[in-house]
Amino acid sequence: MTAPGILWLTRDFRLHDNPALQAAIADGPLLPVFIIDRLTMTQGAASRWRLMRALQSLDATLRQRTGGKGITILRGEADEILPPLMKRLGVRRLHQSDWPTSEMRTLQGRMRAALRPAGAELVLHPGHLLVHPRAIRTGNGGAYRVYSPFARAVRQLGPDRPAADAPRRITACTEPLQGLDPLKLDLAPDLHRGRAALEQFAPPAGEGAALARLDDFLDRASAYPGGRDRPDLDATSGLSDHLAVGEISPRVVWARAMLRAEVSPEHAAGIGKFLSEVIWRDFSWHLLIEFPQMPVACCRPEWEGFPWRKDAPELIGWQRAETGVALVDAGLRQMWLTGRMHNRVRMVVASWLTKHLLIDWRAGLAHFADCLTDWDPAANAMNWQWVAGCGPNAAPYFRIFNPERRAEQYDPQGDYRRRWLAGFDGASCPEAEVWLQSIPPAWNRGPWLPGPPSMLAKGRNAALAALAQFRATISET
Ligand SMILES: Cc1cc2nc3c(=O)[nH]c(=O)nc-3n(C[C@H](O)[C@H](O)[C@H](O)COP(=O)(O)OP(=O)(O)OC[C@H]3O[C@@H](n4cnc5c(N)ncnc54)[C@H](O)[C@@H]3O)c2cc1C
Repeated sequence: MTAPGILWLTRDFRLHDNPALQAAIADGPLLPVFIIDRLTMTQGAASRWRLMRALQSLDATLRQRTGGKGITILRGEADEILPPLMKRLGVRRLHQSDWPTSEMRTLQGRMRAALRPAGAELVLHPGHLLVHPRAIRTGNGGAYRVYSPFARAVRQLGPDRPAADAPRRITACTEPLQGLDPLKLDLAPDLHRGRAALEQFAPPAGEGAALARLDDFLDRASAYPGGRDRPDLDATSGLSDHLAVGEISPRVVWARAMLRAEVSPEHAAGIGKFLSEVIWRDFSWHLLIEFPQMPVACCRPEWEGFPWRKDAPELIGWQRAETGVALVDAGLRQMWLTGRMHNRVRMVVASWLTKHLLIDWRAGLAHFADCLTDWDPAANAMNWQWVAGCGPNAAPYFRIFNPERRAEQYDPQGDYRRRWLAGFDGASCPEAEVWLQSIPPAWNRGPWLPGPPSMLAKGRNAALAALAQFRATISET
């Protein structure tokens, strides 16, 4: 038997622009393996559910291309399962698309150690980012900590070109291996009642859906600059879910968008703005590589001394979307039901928690990580630190979003709040009603009620007082 080419799938569930897949195919008949390990299961419930859909979709595509062979799904620890399997099949190289989180680096280290005695190696491939982090350095050879010069450098260098197109025919490894049935798989049993809502609201998964979504967005990109701040409109790309699990690569997004800007100049300005956002995604990953602790520690260490409240009872009210602030509660309910939240609303929701309620940003980050289907460890951490004021390129702490004013600006007719918040404005949309059925019965919720208007000023004043005290403390030390 010819030794197979093994692809260790952890992210990047796609055929296009997938150098790890290509390398595995070049090594021999393809054997793609996904392992349900501790690392997978420590991910938040909604993103695990989303990952499962990506896995099922790629499995179906591979079966079509190979005449019936899909992904081998196993349960256990990757560094205990794969090395003996490779030894038995005579395989020397294990291909993986790199995903540079600190947890994955630890697992990759264990994998290398387990492969070494047999002379086998782990080969990491790019595919997750526009540009390799080593290629974008400041004049001093360090990493960029500020977005604008980073973005300029990315545009100057130009993102890496996508690898060749999707392979047309794939020869699959015929070695009989006992794996789990992807269609019977449940990676998120802990979703409970929220699962039906996600199934109802989440857009289609898979590489085909991602490419179609991109093309659809590019057709309306001219409306992006004017509409992107409006959660009541469908003006953004909605690609973050697909990018998070790698059903589409940022390099393909970039290449297709640039091509469209050339042939449809009326969309060029919108596409330029959209690509700036895609660069934000890369920036967050470059920061994560520089600060592997970004999801758990303030990038500016002095902020560890800020008087965040750790056990505040208001945290539960925030998590349960009962702050009494309409835009905040609507956003949290949208996330609960759809696994997504509009970017502007994410900022307001995060600002309410970290400023008006003075609660530690890490509590908010953890809740988002559990509920977002587009959860991305780098984007989530960078943005939470940005809002909280402790990131390398953060908004100044004294910039406190006023949720009422933001609601007037972003949701002028109240359509967004009416859609997700049953009882807002006396009206109710069907979507808003679903939320009531999808929450745990123990929450025992009645109609939504606004909080007292005084809480806006009270929270703002408390945040500014905490900042003044904090500044005094750090100037003393
Ligand atoms: C507190 C907070 C937490 C966040 N957590 C996440 C997260 O876990 N996962 C995630 O993908 N995004 C996160 N974001 C960023 C942003 O809200 C989403 O990327 C965006 O809403 C996705 O919608 P879209 O695909 O329609 O975006 P578009 O406006 O169409 O943008 C295109 C792509 O650019 C990237 N992008 C856009 N804005 C940002 C940003 N601010 N930071 C990094 N990348 C960006 C995304 O990949 C997005 O799909 C967070 C923002 C905040 C304020």
